[in-house]
Amino acid sequence: MLGMTYHSALHPRLFGGVVRRWPLLFLALSAFLLVGFPGSGPMLTAEPGGYAVQVAPPGTVRSPQKEAAQEISEAERIKTIVDQQRIGGGTAQSGNDSAYALALPLVQMSEADEAPSPRQAVALAWDGEARSARIPVLMYHYLSVPPADANSYRLDLSVSPDLFARQLESMREAGYVTVSPYDLLAHLWAGAPLPEKPVVITFDDGYRDNYTNAFPLLRERGMVATIFVVTDFMDEGRPEYLTWEMAREMWAAGFSIESHGRNHASLKNRDADYLVWQALGSLETIEYELGARPRFVSYPAGEFDAQTIAIFESANYWAGFTTIQGATHSTDNLFQLHRVRVRNTTQPEELLRLLALEW
Ligand SMILES: [Zn+2]
Repeated sequence: MLGMTYHSALHPRLFGGVVRRWPLLFLALSAFLLVGFPGSGPMLTAEPGGYAVQVAPPGTVRSPQKEAAQEISEAERIKTIVDQQRIGGGTAQSGNDSAYALALPLVQMSEADEAPSPRQAVALAWDGEARSARIPVLMYHYLSVPPADANSYRLDLSVSPDLFARQLESMREAGYVTVSPYDLLAHLWAGAPLPEKPVVITFDDGYRDNYTNAFPLLRERGMVATIFVVTDFMDEGRPEYLTWEMAREMWAAGFSIESHGRNHASLKNRDADYLVWQALGSLETIEYELGARPRFVSYPAGEFDAQTIAIFESANYWAGFTTIQGATHSTDNLFQLHRVRVRNTTQPEELLRLLALEW
């Protein structure tokens, strides 16, 4: 019950429904939040004004002293969250949902000391109107010529820089304009205008070749993309993945850096503890490294279930990308957004055909 109350109370796009349909519940809820939970620490607040976006200006550089101080407070903050999850005898079982209801809002308290960048200055909130739109979201992984001994899996996930350049050229000539997931959502939630032929370019996994090969090709054409990164792999400094410095550079150039989980483990058939760890852990890391909170998840291996969606939505993600093929999105299905897979065999003409499909 607490879990349900939590979802209703802290998600502004559900909040209005609560007020309309269950005014008494709304009043009780308000009193509940005002009084607070005994021993639960600071007052809980939803993000003010709906979905205010907190971001640092592009190119933000942290001083070493500030960074050290933030590192400590960040570690304490995460430890508090984890400790809260254990309240009520909560081990890794699903029976302690109420403990999450207490724990998650702590993360949602925002420090409003950072000015929004021009790119994300718009506060996103759903105006309650049901909308759908066909906005193709391309899905890439590796952007390089695979090694000679590559297996079929690696081959299938690799697009060569040469082919990618030809794909970009054909899209540009056909009038396609790259937009971000934030643009997509602003359109669905608030009817914000989009280019006549919008396209979202996404890369899963955050391979280093996204920076060395894809980034220059996109940037010289004034195009942007979204990278779904695996935060633990970056923290470990794995050479085949992006560094945080690379991610910051791309973010400053207008790219979106979003979550692909902490370690690429499947998010399907997992208990709430595990999903909170994946959702909040990756969010906190990206927010710390970039100064901007990620709002989108791409489910590793495309695997998710109802529990995955519930937890990521609770952690203030705005939408989730699947590997389901298609290009039409709607306000009632934001955590099952479809994408269009681009293969190493997808020639420009085929790509244009896929982009124009009504699916
Ligand atoms: Zn992946």
